[in-house]
Amino acid sequence: MQNQSTPIKQILQGLYRDDIVKVQGLVRTFRQSKNVAFIAINDGSTFESLQVVLGDGLGDNLYEQLGTGAALEIEGTVVASPAAGQSWELQATDLRITGPAGSEYPLQKKRHSLEYLRSIGHLRPRTNTFNAVFRLRSFVSHAIHRYFEQRGFYWMHTPIITANDCEGAGEQFRVTTLPRITSDDDFGQDFFGQPASLTVSGQLEGEALATALGKIYTFGPTFRSENSNTSRHLAEFWMIEPEVAFADLDDMLDLAEDFIISIVQQVLEHCQSELNFFEQFVESGLLQKLQAVSREPFARITYSDAVAILQKCGEDFEYPVQWGADLQAEHERYLCENHMGKPVFVTDYPADIKAFYMKLSDDERTVRAMDLLLPGIGEIIGGSQREDRHDVLKKRMEQFGIDCHAMSWYLELRRFGNQPHAGFGLGLERLLQYLSGMGNIRDVIPFPRAPRQI
Ligand code: ATP
Ligand code: MG
Ligand code: MG
Ligand code: MG
Repeated sequence: MQNQSTPIKQILQGLYRDDIVKVQGLVRTFRQSKNVAFIAINDGSTFESLQVVLGDGLGDNLYEQLGTGAALEIEGTVVASPAAGQSWELQATDLRITGPAGSEYPLQKKRHSLEYLRSIGHLRPRTNTFNAVFRLRSFVSHAIHRYFEQRGFYWMHTPIITANDCEGAGEQFRVTTLPRITSDDDFGQDFFGQPASLTVSGQLEGEALATALGKIYTFGPTFRSENSNTSRHLAEFWMIEPEVAFADLDDMLDLAEDFIISIVQQVLEHCQSELNFFEQFVESGLLQKLQAVSREPFARITYSDAVAILQKCGEDFEYPVQWGADLQAEHERYLCENHMGKPVFVTDYPADIKAFYMKLSDDERTVRAMDLLLPGIGEIIGGSQREDRHDVLKKRMEQFGIDCHAMSWYLELRRFGNQPHAGFGLGLERLLQYLSGMGNIRDVIPFPRAPRQI
């Protein structure tokens, strides 16, 4: 294997004093003086760059190719740095340029606007900001798997191509075959003659799995044809959906709270340099916010309480607050940012504004649903106890105009070995926005999919 380099992060931690190491990465800056030239090289292991000293005319015939963006392999000795700021540098003994970048390389400046960087999605991972975001994304993804595995959950893969519209919100992308790979008869007939779409949620299939395996979670891509240009919606995002048999709504509140706190604590412990970077350049107060959230219990209020609070608060909202109407983003923000000043679970929403599969309460006006609202983000989790009574579920499906014949498998879960169960869905990108302070959801996923962005 060619890649036997030493991560720059470890060199800067002082683990290689006086050792000979090989470093591979990209030139951030290059400058030369009389007898010596300096390269700042970055390999993605940390947002910091390692200073490399090219003494004795090493590579001096290559100086033209050593501009910002060039890819290099360098061997040398790690020595204590006399320069201010960094403690370690590399005295190069060998240098190989695998690819120069030239003066047209777009990332010449130190800072670029996030908007501009979005237009060069293939290069923006090379910036400090996106280095940090994508390392955080990787860490959090692993932490999520660890969290569930340690608690006995099975990771299940639910289909991406499906005939179910779980949310009933008509936000699916349809799947269509192309003429050259199907017979003429099938053309325009979607999935081998049947209508199919990309999944908006793996929940319904997840329920079937939970009734067999007890505790499962899904973690995969989810698709919604959101034609809304908000900073919180993508057409393709990653969702985490635990589903637990013999559980009720309160169990889900406890699980969701413990989950968020655990992820925040792990990020605080293991992603310190990334968090310091975000604190400095993205959201001042981020560390304090995360430390506070990892200590304090979340607030829990019912939808009816929330409406009463919003109606009494005297705030001039754009949308009126009325029992029976869905909470708007401005209402959610008010509740968790102004009123509570911390994460808030809102439970027991009106039955008419939530999905058909949520358990109807005894009052028959509300369902056992919850949303978790985070300051600065709004809704990050939506969950519920599932309707486990066959006849009530069937009636709800009919009310919502859902094809009970096509969904007979789902009803059958209530006929055979019925069990109460509950679960929730959490958007990975919204969690990453919360953890990094990044304001636009398109900046926490490597290649965002949104209207006019493919
Ligand atoms: P919103 O009200 O913000 O549109 P939702 O109620 O439609 O969200 P759910 O169906 O409850 O979303 O999905 C569960 C979670 O998935 C949400 O709480 C959110 O974290 C995430 N999510 C939903 N839609 C999107 C999207 N378009 N882009 C990114 N994340 C999303
Ligand atoms: Mg939505
Ligand atoms: Mg919502
Ligand atoms: Mg929701």
